[in-house]
Amino acid sequence: MNPFSYARPTRIEEAISLFGPQSRYIAGGTNLLDLMKENVERPEQLIDITQLPLKSIEETPEGGVRIGALVSNADLAWHALIERRYPLLAKAILAGASPQLRNMASTGGNLLQRTRCYYFYDSTVPCNKRERGSGCPARDGLNRIHAILGHSEQCIAVHPSDMCVALAALDAVVLVTGPQGERRVDFRDFHRLPGDQPERDNTLADGELITAIELPAAGYAEHSAYLKLRDRASYAFALVSVAAALEIDGGIIRSARIALGGVAHKPWRCTEAEDALVGEPAEQSAFEQAAQRILQGASGFEHNAFKIELSQRAIVRALTEATEGTAA
Ligand SMILES: Cc1cc2nc3c(=O)[nH]c(=O)nc-3n(C[C@H](O)[C@H](O)[C@H](O)COP(=O)(O)OP(=O)(O)OC[C@H]3O[C@@H](n4cnc5c(N)ncnc54)[C@H](O)[C@@H]3O)c2cc1C
Repeated sequence: MNPFSYARPTRIEEAISLFGPQSRYIAGGTNLLDLMKENVERPEQLIDITQLPLKSIEETPEGGVRIGALVSNADLAWHALIERRYPLLAKAILAGASPQLRNMASTGGNLLQRTRCYYFYDSTVPCNKRERGSGCPARDGLNRIHAILGHSEQCIAVHPSDMCVALAALDAVVLVTGPQGERRVDFRDFHRLPGDQPERDNTLADGELITAIELPAAGYAEHSAYLKLRDRASYAFALVSVAAALEIDGGIIRSARIALGGVAHKPWRCTEAEDALVGEPAEQSAFEQAAQRILQGASGFEHNAFKIELSQRAIVRALTEATEGTAA
């Protein structure tokens, strides 16, 4: 690990003004410290943001909820308001990591955790995400956990978060403050596909701090499901995950949200498939059509092509579970 300086500001403006070209914010440290130990991240300055006033969960005047960026994953999942109104989010969080990690991990850090691609973590091999233009050994290497949608010549890594899959389905908004002031970013525009800039996971500018996440009023509390398929029953990242949320009236779908995790560089939404479900009976045949539509452009590699069918089946199952009603 390289030497670095350390600061622990108590005000948001102070944190932002301290940020320099080689700085990193640190919250729970559950991802950043691992990356530093592996020599993937070598910051010259760590700005510890844990003393900033970003730990509250509040209702918004519009009927939604604002979640501070430093709310731990555990506190968020077990919060009464979240459990009651956004059970999809609570379930997705509890499907991830371990109780100890969820106690440390923050809401903002979860969005910014980096891919689990083996080659990205191994600084002895090339990786376009680590060092632009160096190559992508995953394409012809071990690619079981890699992308089947939205990948590029340069990168086939996936975003590993569970929480973000639910946030994508719930149409969350990310609140950001930086040197240029405050802005709001729709969740679907926050993470990005790799294209020819795989080193960029998201659309944050240098020094920008996530301050909160906002959820709209619609929480799909009656009909939602989070399904996570993985190699081990616990403590493993998703091979494929699905956040499914439906509004159903008299057996007919009035609104549908489907987000996939583990399949792309960002949580994957296909609004055409969601729109096509509206007005259809909440039944298997409609779900199968939606699943086919979502995976239409998918392409796999030597070890992960199975994920295409797996994703389709997972979508149908998650939508079926959502239709049956959100389990307690
Ligand atoms: C063994 C293991 C298993 C795991 N399993 C899962 C799993 O199954 N599912 C899952 O979803 N996750 C899993 N995780 C990942 C875990 O959820 C993340 O590491 C965690 O959410 C990151 O939050 P943090 O606060 O610790 O971030 P940190 O490690 O502190 O920071 C991560 C990144 O975010 C930046 N950052 C943090 N907060 C802010 C902010 N407010 N504004 C701007 N930048 C910020 C940091 O600079 C850094 O780049 C696992 C982690 C481990 C170690």
